[in-house]
Amino acid sequence: MIIPKENRLTESQLREICDIVESFGCRVQEIVGAHRNIYAILGDERHELMFTRLIGLTYVDRVDHIESSYRLLDRESELAKQRLVLGGNALGEAPLFIAGPCTVDPENPELTIETAHAVKEAGAQLLRGGVWKPRTMPYSYQGNPEALNILLKAREQTGLPLVVEVMDERQLEAALEAKVEVLQIGTRNALNYSLLKAVGRLSAPTESWVLLKRGRHIAEPDEFLSAAEYLAAEGNPRILLCPRGTMPKLDGYRNHPDESITQLLKEKTWAPVICDPSHSTGRAIYVPAAALAAIAYGADGLVIEANAEPLKGIGDDPKQALTPESLGKLIRQSKALWHLLKNEE
Ligand code: PEP
Ligand code: MN
Repeated sequence: MIIPKENRLTESQLREICDIVESFGCRVQEIVGAHRNIYAILGDERHELMFTRLIGLTYVDRVDHIESSYRLLDRESELAKQRLVLGGNALGEAPLFIAGPCTVDPENPELTIETAHAVKEAGAQLLRGGVWKPRTMPYSYQGNPEALNILLKAREQTGLPLVVEVMDERQLEAALEAKVEVLQIGTRNALNYSLLKAVGRLSAPTESWVLLKRGRHIAEPDEFLSAAEYLAAEGNPRILLCPRGTMPKLDGYRNHPDESITQLLKEKTWAPVICDPSHSTGRAIYVPAAALAAIAYGADGLVIEANAEPLKGIGDDPKQALTPESLGKLIRQSKALWHLLKNEE
């Protein structure tokens, strides 16, 4: 939709616009108003270059997109009809709970194994755990591939599918070889388009899902959805969208909690939204309220950092992991709220 600066385009301006639009296989339809005319673009209007050329015209005020740039992720896409089942759990039919340590400590494998059993007991259906860690400081613990073997052992013992973050293709290949059920793309790589493409392409022929975290500096839901579109465009539509807080942070929190974006995302896409209140708030005492808010906003599930003994954990666990008891209570409350809201719809 083209909005001119003046009330209407002159004939030569309209000719120039038609030439641009028609060169992209679309047509212009003039809509005559009492005071102002607007100009609809008919056809597949998702050509970025067409938009850039139109916006570059001095007499054009605005060009609005009617269709979204994420055609596969869009609610209107054919993909919206699929039934989504992850590790035997049908998404949207009951909330999904992912829990586990921030970081698997290769020096204390027993703690991860104990935590895996404990989160399962508390009601989690998937086990998360950091093998390779994106750390702000180069001197902090960066991860260790040995941690993957500990998670594989935990999976074998508990039957819980795994969620593991990958930051490059080498890690991606190792995770795919281990048949990790969910590949996490963290907030720092949320706009790393080369990684998004590699993950989409290499996971496409497998059964792996992708948990895509929302970038810390992403303001617009459309930017988040376009990043997810990269995965689907490369052949893997098994995507979980994960709001995890943005910057600048809210005083007292680690980030600015952004669970409320869930409702907007659900209006735009069919992709399930799994919120991460652990990173959005950054403190164990704030996690339950943010988690319940996420459910109230319509989230399909939660990913929560939890540790059998948070103070013995590494990475974020000492400050933000829930104990198995508080995780169990939160899962019970989340389920109750979810069913209450669904039943009264
Ligand atoms: C994590 O899940 O432990 C993590 C590092 O996540 P994020 O990318 O959201 O910071
Ligand atoms: Mn963490």
